[in-house]
Order: sequence, then structure tokens, then C-alpha cells
Amino acid sequence: MNSDVIVIGAGAIGSSIGYQLAKAGVKVIILERGQVGREATGASAGMVAASHDRNTPQPFAALATESARLFPALAEELKDRTGMDIGYRRAGRLQVAFDELAEQRLRAERGWQVDHGAIVPWLDRASVLDLEPAVNPAVRAAVYYAEEYQLLPLMLAQALARAAADLGAAVREGAAIDRLLTEGDRVAGVAIGDERIHADQVVIANGSWAGGWATPLEVPIPIRPIRGQLVALRTPGTALRTVISAQDAYVVTKPDGLTIIGTTVEDVGFDSRPTAAGIGRLLNLAPRLAPRLADATFSGAWAGLRPGTPDGMPLIGRLPPWRGVVLASGHFRNGILLAPVTGELVTDLILRRQPRLAIEAFDPSRFLVRAA
Ligand SMILES: Cc1cc2nc3c(=O)[nH]c(=O)nc-3n(C[C@H](O)[C@H](O)[C@H](O)COP(=O)(O)OP(=O)(O)OC[C@H]3O[C@@H](n4cnc5c(N)ncnc54)[C@H](O)[C@@H]3O)c2cc1C
Repeated sequence: MNSDVIVIGAGAIGSSIGYQLAKAGVKVIILERGQVGREATGASAGMVAASHDRNTPQPFAALATESARLFPALAEELKDRTGMDIGYRRAGRLQVAFDELAEQRLRAERGWQVDHGAIVPWLDRASVLDLEPAVNPAVRAAVYYAEEYQLLPLMLAQALARAAADLGAAVREGAAIDRLLTEGDRVAGVAIGDERIHADQVVIANGSWAGGWATPLEVPIPIRPIRGQLVALRTPGTALRTVISAQDAYVVTKPDGLTIIGTTVEDVGFDSRPTAAGIGRLLNLAPRLAPRLADATFSGAWAGLRPGTPDGMPLIGRLPPWRGVVLASGHFRNGILLAPVTGELVTDLILRRQPRLAIEAFDPSRFLVRAA
């Protein structure tokens, strides 16, 4: 079997790449070991939050801002093409402070953001409770990020894959790639057991598992799984109006009515099971942000493996000395937010077009240079 491009993995990233390639008329095949969107993507909170602070590297801020800008049109486009509603909607976020130290930190962070052009109101206690009566009345102050959004992440991946398929892409589930096929200095395809699939280009988009290609290709791909747990509560009739976040947790009511409490950040290898300690911690934190959540009923808990990188930024680019391969993984805590722009950038790379923004900072070779 032959195609122009093989995409390995159908999370938000692989599905977005497959969709953009199919839209550009490329003959593409998306190969997914399990089911579309059922790993990190389906486990995520689905927040599309491009706000940044003094610690955010400028190229990352530009990438996030551009991707957030692409979302409204993409959500519409997916609805028109597939009839699927990815639940994209505004989800303003209150970053709250409960003690003096947190308030000072928040003030300093906001100062930097305002100096850099962000419109982020400072709210005193009364104004916070006016905007979101569910917040713990012990709140001292908050910053309100009105320009943040959320969606249903599994629906995003599924709609992208469906739209790609409607445009002629082949989307195969249950297709676990064991090996990359190479010819000289070129990656020429993939193998699934005895089956060989050849292509002009291969895109590695298998998230936390992308690091597994480092050994066969003999290039550094420093991506490791970082587990994140979430708890879901049923809160009928008492949905939160805003996202509420503090330094160590956030709560958000999703378009499907569940209220999600996030999250943990754990370096525990490829173990994506939620734990008693993780769930317990999140259940304790939620009523501290919004006391009425103590009366909510438990719906479920799950975990996913974020593809983490040493500098927290994704790896998007070619993998020299290999030809015929592009890497697009390592989106860590922002793979939902960054899915639209990653799809477009990888399509630019494959079609050898000038990328819509500078991507040098995300070049996978940055780790090669450091090692040399
Ligand atoms: C708890 C939690 C909350 C999060 N919240 C947010 C958020 O609010 N906003 C945000 O932007 N991001 C969030 N993230 C991060 C986001 O989920 C990830 O960055 C994103 O899902 C990564 O997408 P991906 O497609 O690279 O990886 P994945 O979704 O993991 O997809 C990779 C796919 O590759 C497949 N695969 C692996 N190996 C093979 C193989 N050999 N052959 C074929 N297929 C293979 C897997 O089965 C998988 O489906 C969160 C993550 C977690 C865990």
C-alpha cells in the first residue's frame, strides 16, 4: 500500500495534521494503535487558554496565540463538514487568591500582563463573587481572563478525523506501528506486523510514545509521559459560570454538564491509571475553590499521559539527518490548544511552503545541538 503521507497517531495532533493535509489535497493515511482521541487527548480538560505570563517563552506565546485565533473558524468548519459540535465556547477564567502571598504573586503577574497589552481586570472580593457566586467567599481577589475558551477534546479529535476521512484520508484504528521502514537516509514508511505501508513522508504524532522512535532513528527525541489525573462531578443545575483556578487546581463545568477538577502532574512512566492519592487530593481541593462542590456527586476519574519535553515546548520539525520524516509531538499541557496551528505548520513543512510563523524554537534539533 502507498500514500503520500503517513501520520502516526490520531490524538488531537495527528488528527489535526491529517485533516489539514487532506484539505490540501494530499493523499494521507492516519494510523492509530487504539481509537481516535482516546489517549492524552480524550483525557484532557479541553481548555483553550492562550494567556501567558513572564515565564512563557515568546515563540511559545506566539504559537499559542495563533492557534487560539484559528479555533472559532475551525469549530465552524468541522460542524459544517461533519455535523459534529466540538463544544467550543467561551470559558472566562478567574485566577483566585486566598492569602496575601498568592495575592501579591497574582498582582505581579497581572502587572506584567498589563504592561504587555493584555486586558485582564483585577477583581476585589465583592466583584469576584458578583461574577461567580460559587467561589469560596474567603477569596481575597482575582484576575479575570475573559478571552479563554473550552471544548470537548475527544469530539475535537473525532471531528478532525471524520473531516479528514470525508476528504479522502484513510483513518485506521487498531493499527499499531512497530517499525519505521528506512531506505538509506530516508524514512520510507511503516510496518504493522508483516504489513508494510510506504509513503513519501511520515509524520510522527504519537504523543508520549514518540520518544520510542529515538533509538531506531538514533536521534534525540526527549519526550516522556507526564501523568495528569482528573475527577468529574455531577453538578446538575449548579454549573459554574466561570473556570476557577488557583495555583494548584482548577474547576470547570464542561459543555456536557460535568464539572471537572484538575489536575496532577506526575512523572510515573507509562502508567495512565488514576490513583487513590490523586483522586483524594483533587476531591479535597475542589470545595476549597467552590464550596458547593462538596455536595456534588462523584461521576468518575481518569488520567492521561501528557507528552512532556525538557523545555516544556513541543517538537515540530524535520529530524535530520533523516529525510522523509517530520516530528510533531511533545505538546505537554497544551496539545488541545496547539492542535490547529500544529496541523497547519506540519502541512506547510510537508508541502515545503513558508510556515505561517517562525518555528525555529520548536525545531527538534535543538536537543541535538545541546548534546553536541
Ligand atoms: C489531565 C490532562 C489535562 C489536560 N488539559 C489540557 C487542556 O486543558 N488544554 C490543552 O491544550 N491540553 C491539555 N492537556 C494536554 C493535552 O491533552 C495533550 O498535550 C494532547 O492531548 C497531546 O495530543 P497528542 O495527539 O500529541 O497525543 P495523544 O492524544 O496521546 O495521541 C497520541 C496517539 O498516538 C497513538 N499511538 C501511540 N503509539 C502508536 C503507534 N506505535 N502506532 C500507532 N498509534 C500510536 C496513541 O494510541 C494515541 O491515540 C491535558 C492533558 C491531561 C493528561
